[in-house]
Amino acid sequence: MLENLLRTGGAFRSAIARETKLTEASVSRILAELRSENLVQETRHPAPYSGGPTSLVTLSKSVAIAGIELSNSRLSFGIGDLAGTLDYVDRMPASPQLDQDAFEQLVRRSAAAMLAWAHARGITLRQAALSIPGYGREAGNPIYPWDVARLRGVLGEALPGLPLELTNSVVAQAAFQRYSQSTRYPVAGNHLFLFVGHGVAGVIVNEAASIDAFSPFEIGHMVIERNGLACRCGHRGCIEAYTSLRAISSILNLDAGEILHRGDSFIDMLDLDGDARAVLRERLVMLGLGLGNALNLHPLSSVVISGWPSLMPEEDRAAIIAGLDESLLGGFDERRLSLSFIAPSIGNDPQAALHYAAYCFVSGGGLDARADSQTALEEIA
Ligand SMILES: [Zn+2]
Repeated sequence: MLENLLRTGGAFRSAIARETKLTEASVSRILAELRSENLVQETRHPAPYSGGPTSLVTLSKSVAIAGIELSNSRLSFGIGDLAGTLDYVDRMPASPQLDQDAFEQLVRRSAAAMLAWAHARGITLRQAALSIPGYGREAGNPIYPWDVARLRGVLGEALPGLPLELTNSVVAQAAFQRYSQSTRYPVAGNHLFLFVGHGVAGVIVNEAASIDAFSPFEIGHMVIERNGLACRCGHRGCIEAYTSLRAISSILNLDAGEILHRGDSFIDMLDLDGDARAVLRERLVMLGLGLGNALNLHPLSSVVISGWPSLMPEEDRAAIIAGLDESLLGGFDERRLSLSFIAPSIGNDPQAALHYAAYCFVSGGGLDARADSQTALEEIA
């Protein structure tokens, strides 16, 4: 029920009963319990039709959660509510050149600053989530060199008693797209979600599955050009080296920080001259090539792309289809493969991690882990 409310942003009791396949009596009983835990609230609204429901159920705005993101070469800490409103944001540069100790110091300092902010306002955090590019490939993550198990320990010490989940950045991006009320997702069925940001990664979105069951894959490090451009992973010719935000920022002669600052509108503000635009189109062809190869390995009939390509004019995005046509078995056929684009919200970190934290909180039933552990301690005593 909580996950349903997170997804829809709010619903009438009758709709909740329909969606969750519970009787209205069960819905009422559970809602009463959730209201007493201050997890949901009901507000009166004009009935959508005569005699219709008037009481809209939404998640409580008083639950505070934390999102922590490693993205865009920075470490972002944020506190917000389950609806994704960020009240506190702290972003620090975090180059992969930092050694483990310097990085852990940065994590400790940022976590302490966030906690101090929350304490000063009497806010109790209920859940935290940290998203890391390439998470799940600890045996070989050449992009982020830090020991993830140690990092978990450091955060656990810095944020004592706070439930913490770690996930891959692209899974957090998928959570952002699934749960953000500001985006309208274009696809309902199973599909490949491709995120083209500072890194490039994909995840197969199964609509019926929970988000933490998604398995990410690092399409960005598919080599498409032998002895091609150098990639930060140490190889040459990776898709990421051609199509990431960083790669295109050098084509546009724009500082990567400036792109993050301007957000999704950065493309509109550019006076794309003929040359830069032609190079960008060529990069989109390469993205299409890699995408087609990925779909040859794992066939799906729908792809959603989030990233700077989504912001390009439609005639330029056709270059992706040209690339797909060159690599996809049997070529591109719009009857067999649909391609959709959504705005990426560039520079919004740690929104993705915050939405993942919201998912973790509701999927745990909104239980107060702190209170439980407190009770357990008292029982032991
Ligand atoms: Zn690479």
